[in-house]
Amino acid sequence: MITLRIGGFQKNSLIDFPGTIACVVFTMGCNFRCPYCHNPALVSGPVTGTGHHDVEEIFSFISSRKDLIDGVVITGGEPCLQPDLVPFISRIKDMGLAVKLDSNGSRPEVLAHLLDMDLVDYVAMDIKTDFNLYPDIIKTSLTVDAIEESMNVIMAKAPAYEFRTTCVRPFITEEIMEKICRRIMGAQKYVLQKCSKNVQMLDPHFSRQADRFFSDLEIQGLKAIAQKTVKTVIIR
Ligand code: SF4
Repeated sequence: MITLRIGGFQKNSLIDFPGTIACVVFTMGCNFRCPYCHNPALVSGPVTGTGHHDVEEIFSFISSRKDLIDGVVITGGEPCLQPDLVPFISRIKDMGLAVKLDSNGSRPEVLAHLLDMDLVDYVAMDIKTDFNLYPDIIKTSLTVDAIEESMNVIMAKAPAYEFRTTCVRPFITEEIMEKICRRIMGAQKYVLQKCSKNVQMLDPHFSRQADRFFSDLEIQGLKAIAQKTVKTVIIR
């Protein structure tokens, strides 16, 4: 029996998987604590245990829609923490659907395994900040090596991918953007995400400081920095 702790399921999305009509599966549990996280309900609980959706029911639904959709997005939380992620994705691939995986990059060995088995068609990996600042800002004991290794794995093995960064201070400054972009030089695609203020966040006080948020003009400035080393830079 495959177990995956699923906290949410979206039947249809036109925006989460580039060029693809997809369902979206949200897994529960995350090893990061980004204060601006827009999915606090998914993050705070454990990784394993009973989720809000029965896995077999999700498979049945996806199977019943496989002629109407092209793919499935697996996001979170952090999907790579789920012990049964590989068999879960294998079942979806057996239905002939494409898979996009969103990850915070903390489990490079899982990413490598999935990509070696040709189980993932598109990877979106978050780059939160300067690698050396992860322990302080994201409140994780994770080593910087894991993030760098995930980036290397994705650039070497993923059929299609994007790196993406939510642009908020102090995680991102012009100097930090320059550092990140030097590291991902030659990447396929880099997405700069604006951070919405008026949504529920993991740290409810985070959005009270207006100077954390970049204006449209400032984001354009970050894009100009990124374009020096990455060909395709998108603001989302
Ligand atoms: S933003 Fe992503 S990595 Fe950060 S806490 Fe939320 S789910 Fe985890």
